[in-house]
Amino acid sequence: MAIQLFVPSFRIDECLKAIRECLEKGWTGLGFKTIEFEQAWSKYSELPHAHFLNSNTVGLHLALHVMKSRFGWADDDEVITTPFTFVSTNHAILYCRLRPVFADIDDFLCLDPSSVAARITSRTRAVMFVGVGGNTGQYDKIVDLCRQRGLKLILDAAHMAGTRVNGRQVGPEPDAVVFSFQAVKNLPTADSGMICFKDAEDDERARKLTWLGINKDTYSRTAAQGAYKWMYNVEEVGFKYHGNSIMASMGLVQLRWLDQDNSYRRQLASWYRARLAGRGAARAVEVACGCESATHLFQVRVNRRDAVMLALNEHQIYPGVHYRDNTDYSMYAYGSGSCPNAARASNEVISLPLHLNLTRDDVATICDLLIRYAG
Ligand SMILES: *Cc1c(COP(=O)(O)O)cnc(C)c1O
Repeated sequence: MAIQLFVPSFRIDECLKAIRECLEKGWTGLGFKTIEFEQAWSKYSELPHAHFLNSNTVGLHLALHVMKSRFGWADDDEVITTPFTFVSTNHAILYCRLRPVFADIDDFLCLDPSSVAARITSRTRAVMFVGVGGNTGQYDKIVDLCRQRGLKLILDAAHMAGTRVNGRQVGPEPDAVVFSFQAVKNLPTADSGMICFKDAEDDERARKLTWLGINKDTYSRTAAQGAYKWMYNVEEVGFKYHGNSIMASMGLVQLRWLDQDNSYRRQLASWYRARLAGRGAARAVEVACGCESATHLFQVRVNRRDAVMLALNEHQIYPGVHYRDNTDYSMYAYGSGSCPNAARASNEVISLPLHLNLTRDDVATICDLLIRYAG
């Protein structure tokens, strides 16, 4: 049997039951289950405002869009970001006509605070931090740096659903935290995400912006007693970014399993670590001290990575690569050469298979082959 990198675990009967409620009620859109899921997520994440979206990508755009207009940032103002991420993080900056400035990464594969500090200019407005694999890296230092230098902080928490730091959920500090509930993430739906603004006003504005700028959502208009349901105002140009009740139904079910799923992910990671320890060839990426990672990924670094990948594929083992240095892509090539650690990691990292169907024996098989080919 082939071993894939990711396999989502859907609680199918529970999901179908929750979706059925929507279909029977005749309500699949914004409102109803989306409200219930926002409340459940806010309680779980300990973040006061949670707004359900159709993806993390749109949330990253929305976060910068709200801040750019609120603080009067100009086109081509700078946002410091990582080249070591899924392109969504960096595309979001360009959607707002801001400029991605790449800083280098550390051994946790997250932004290195000293590199970020070195790239701050008079035009820097914000920092995008990605908790790669669920790891917080040197997030605390980035929080301090942003506070000292008056920069906004956006946490791309696509891998961090359930990450805790010193016993607390990650993310009360950033101006916006954006989660992904895409099908291969830790809380899988099909496609959806959540944005959690720190500021109540930003949250309120975002709720209008995700529904075309309309100041009353359809659900409250429909549910409202009385007339004048069509008498809403449109205050500014918005987007079609809100989530729907079908995805929220799945999210509510999957959320009940998230901590248990993440703890099995951590178990798999510790089996991997134990089996690889002292066997040299594949170096596991460490998790930051005090971080209980959601463990979206288990990453190792090897020499001759591409050959190792092909050799594992011969055994029907299909790991992944997170990430290629984004400055390798032609559209971000202006940053090429500016982040040597990211460039090196880009040629060395492998994400080993990590999902809930894996067993301890699978982990042993994968490690033994990995050591054979990476040695
Ligand atoms: C998956 C991912 C995204 C995009 O999430 P979507 O919900 O698919 O839009 C953004 N950033 C990172 C780091 C991701 O892994």
